[in-house]
Amino acid sequence: MSYTALIQALDYEEKNNIADKPLLPEHLTDHSDEGREFNENTGANEITGKLFSTTDFINNVRKNSATKNKEYMDVSSNISAYGIAHDCIRSVIFNINNYPVDSYENTWLPVGFRAVMGTAVHDFLQSEAGDMFTENEACLKVPSRRFSGRLDCLSGNSVLVEIKSCAYPDYAKIISSGKPRPGDLTQVILYKYCLENHLAETKLQKPTRGGGIPKLDHYDIKYLTLLYVCHELVAADSPSLSEAKKFATNLKKHLQSKKNPFWFITAIHIDVEKEIDMVNEQIAFINKKWDMLNECLDSNTIPPMDNEFVKLSACFFCKFRKLCKQIP
Ligand code: SF4
Repeated sequence: MSYTALIQALDYEEKNNIADKPLLPEHLTDHSDEGREFNENTGANEITGKLFSTTDFINNVRKNSATKNKEYMDVSSNISAYGIAHDCIRSVIFNINNYPVDSYENTWLPVGFRAVMGTAVHDFLQSEAGDMFTENEACLKVPSRRFSGRLDCLSGNSVLVEIKSCAYPDYAKIISSGKPRPGDLTQVILYKYCLENHLAETKLQKPTRGGGIPKLDHYDIKYLTLLYVCHELVAADSPSLSEAKKFATNLKKHLQSKKNPFWFITAIHIDVEKEIDMVNEQIAFINKKWDMLNECLDSNTIPPMDNEFVKLSACFFCKFRKLCKQIP
């Protein structure tokens, strides 16, 4: 059933008036005049000082997260690398078609803090890598498949690098297994695939802010590098501060950190030739999901709940839960 028919059947009115929907509840709207007082001596309106309040701070973060998410979602018209590698297929369709959300606010507010830390980590590594990286932030736009992505770094025409920041428990797993997280692996293989199969189209596009188009005329990616940076105690993955500290101490010991002050950075290199079966398997997964996304967008349909790319583990953070529940 098409989305339009379904939405009419459900009488889900919000779809039509989403533009008029207030962004924020009344208790979070701007009251910037509050706190101004008239000073009879000077005849001026003065702003009195305020002590930092965690409650006000949280409300600000909530308000700003809603504004940023709305701005971002309003202009999302392409399939992202994250959408293919990590997201639930239905949420990608809902997002691109600008379907009504439950709320624009982040479900877990510290995610904004993590994003800022992640950007700082990228900036630091890219600026300190010297000649190990020959290109940073290369835009990969493939309009014929509605795709827009941006890879982190390249070295020459044969090494592709993606930087990922993560919490201690994830980092510990990566160190002990020597393997990247599955979604991260899919993402780098998708970039490799784009560089090797859609380069001509990509080079015709305008880069997005902060990125550039790939510089070379040919790429043959032989190594994929996942650069993991463990940078925080923010994640709820550590049940307590003492647990997080224990994680950090054990990891430092394991990595003999006396000799390595950057024990919290680890590179996992994948030799494409040696891992060719796995890489081909991933490319098959990527193309299957990518094609299915485009077919759904072309036909204005939503994949059913039993679709293989529906990801129930993502429902907690999903902004489309209310709508999704009404669609079989
Ligand atoms: S609520 Fe769950 S199943 Fe529905 S779109 Fe979101 S992540 Fe997918």
